[in-house]
Amino acid sequence: MELFETMGSTRHEQIVFCNNADAGLKAIIAIHNTVLGPALGGLRMWPYGSEQEALDDVLRLSRGMTYKAAVSGLNLGGGKAVIIGDPRKDKSEALFRAFGRFIDSLNGRYITAEDVGIDVNDMEFLFQETNNVVGVHQVHGGSGDPSPYTAFGTLQGIKAALQWQFGNQDVGNYSFAVQGAGHVGINLIRLLRDEGAKVFVTDFNKECVDEAVELGAEAVGLDEIYDVEADVFSPCALGAVVNEKTIPRFNFKVVAGAANNQLATEESGDELAARGILYAPDYAVNAGGLMNVSIEFEGWNRERALRMSRTIYYNLSKIFTIAERDKIPSYKAADRMAEERIEMIGKLKLPHMGKPHRFPGRERNNNS
Ligand code: NAD
Repeated sequence: MELFETMGSTRHEQIVFCNNADAGLKAIIAIHNTVLGPALGGLRMWPYGSEQEALDDVLRLSRGMTYKAAVSGLNLGGGKAVIIGDPRKDKSEALFRAFGRFIDSLNGRYITAEDVGIDVNDMEFLFQETNNVVGVHQVHGGSGDPSPYTAFGTLQGIKAALQWQFGNQDVGNYSFAVQGAGHVGINLIRLLRDEGAKVFVTDFNKECVDEAVELGAEAVGLDEIYDVEADVFSPCALGAVVNEKTIPRFNFKVVAGAANNQLATEESGDELAARGILYAPDYAVNAGGLMNVSIEFEGWNRERALRMSRTIYYNLSKIFTIAERDKIPSYKAADRMAEERIEMIGKLKLPHMGKPHRFPGRERNNNS
């Protein structure tokens, strides 16, 4: 494994390997880019099959955070952390407190949050060791569960996509196929139904389906969701569901949902564009959760979180405009918008920051 070669190709700034044998800690923090601000991204705990697998995951995820923050207009960079271990068996106070000290040693260059395998109790242990944690419990002034804000932000992205594709963003005029009625999906279904939309839903979990049906959604089979006659496909479960097998079945005109990494490959994004199906890039649509935790720096409140999530509408409109301007598919336009922002802000060199000079030993006397 040629680490510097890898870092060169992925353009990572820093990778920190954290080891504490007493606590059983093996973790990796990847800081991808801090041009816009400190690297923020969740901590994942997973029983990776190998160290290489853990490294690949943290590198991929941290890079994704750079793009998500940049396209969302946030003054944040991209980072992510992984702990190698089984979240069902290997958690302990010592493990998280040891990891919290590693985070603290980075002096705010990396700020962590919850991700797969981590819950609010684990965050409490981290929080005992470092302030550089967001998504802490509301009793500590944190923002709590981000999913309602992710869902609200997703709705803004959907509206921007409807406006672009149909010239009208009245959600109640359209039908939606929502895959996954978990934390984000059920909140999104509620918002869609509140606006009078027709909603089809599917989920592995019957309880989630039942809850959606109570809100007025129509249940369809797990595989049937791809064939539904609806205007919008909204993936809110897994990644890679937009692929060479599913796209030919689509009757949809828009793909816009909260799930991460919806496109199986770049070709899937090209294929959607070729078929005239508007794809709302996932990391721009689902940024409401990131926006929500980022507000903790200034003091979280609900109004602020909702106000910031509304900007997702404009971010998506800009992405679609860039796609049209440069004649590229929307997934490429989102990357371009993120890269352009990082480049422009990175170039800003103020001639003088306006900080007063101090001249030790010299005193100005107003009377003289
Ligand atoms: P969740 O685990 O609460 O919900 C996911 C739901 O999808 C579950 O109910 C599960 O049963 C269902 N599901 C899984 N596979 C399925 C399949 N093949 N068909 C139908 N249903 C299936 O997760 P969540 O927090 O709601 O997140 C949903 C997606 O949004 C994930 O991809 C996540 O990465 C992304 N996301 C979430 C947030 C957030 O704030 N929670 C923020 C950004 C992105």
